[in-house]
Amino acid sequence: MTKRNTSFHKYKSRQKARTVPIDIDRLFHKVLEGDKAALAQGITLIESTLKHDLLQGEELVTKCLKAAHQSIRIGITGVPGVGKSTFIEAFGSFLTASGKKVAVLAVDPSSSITKGSILGDKTRMERLSRDPNAFIRPSPAQDSLGGVARRTRESILLCEAAGYEVILVETVGVGQSETLVHSMVDFFLLLKLAGAGDELQGVKRGIMEMADAVVINKADGENLNAVKYAMTEFQRALHLYPPKTNTWMPKVLRCSSLHQTGIDTVWQTIQNFIELTTNNGHFESNRDVQYKNWFTQTVDDLLQRHFFEEKTIQLAMQQQLQKITAKEVSPVTAARELVGMIYGGNA
Ligand code: GDP
Repeated sequence: MTKRNTSFHKYKSRQKARTVPIDIDRLFHKVLEGDKAALAQGITLIESTLKHDLLQGEELVTKCLKAAHQSIRIGITGVPGVGKSTFIEAFGSFLTASGKKVAVLAVDPSSSITKGSILGDKTRMERLSRDPNAFIRPSPAQDSLGGVARRTRESILLCEAAGYEVILVETVGVGQSETLVHSMVDFFLLLKLAGAGDELQGVKRGIMEMADAVVINKADGENLNAVKYAMTEFQRALHLYPPKTNTWMPKVLRCSSLHQTGIDTVWQTIQNFIELTTNNGHFESNRDVQYKNWFTQTVDDLLQRHFFEEKTIQLAMQQQLQKITAKEVSPVTAARELVGMIYGGNA
């Protein structure tokens, strides 16, 4: 049995063993005081699969909504080995040294797709995890991307209520994870490596378009010349995209996470972005759009789940599938009849 499975089973049995209900009001006040254990307990509620916990988690999130402090939510993506954890360690420590409180969350859909984790491992970012002004939460064991999305969004709100001003959401380019993280952050940062003239290869379509900054990592030692070349290439590629409605021009930067150079420029760039989008109203309107999408996606998820869990629907679905195979009915008519079982002639 893997380590991850063992801890998952422990977590499950902890869930079962706990019978005393949690005092949400008390937990909320502890979260507000910045108590890390309370914050972790709150996130555990959100991550629970028990209905009772979920409802308590929702109560906590609602309380936290109004209490959330001003924050900057930053998404960080890049392939394994690009230096995400080294970057977050350097960037996070730079921020805590300047008096900021930093939370790190991870979106790791690889664990639901491959049953193994790329990000979740706790030995990463050791220095930052000991920093009193940092809070690191590894990616939870997951069921679906929708589940991961809800948990991460709610965890962000809890961290903000606990006084964390910079929220870093890390992900890898697996499935739709980058689009998902982009939909919950203010600033999206793509970490890249310099290669030998093949800079733009392997950059998934759409990722470049989402990026507010492309940061070439490992800009140190003999790599420096290749980095300069890569920067020009990325700059040229970014110019091919239509301008963003928030008027921000995506930047190409470089840094060495290992030697901690260029980290201050990354932060300065993010601050410039925040200043620009706050002044032109896009910062707030982007968050409004994100909340609206979160709401409609949740309605969508709930409808689907309840629909497909319904026994009569499951049965009717089997019958319609047989009719489709026998060419007795078209897939569209079959779908309309199935949904019509709930919505009548309006489907
Ligand atoms: P992740 O998989 O994206 O989280 O990548 P890691 O942070 O684990 O880094 C992968 C490897 O690259 C490690 O051996 C790091 O020490 C190394 N690395 C990360 N950042 C830098 C850097 O700025 N310069 C150099 N030379 N190596 C780096």
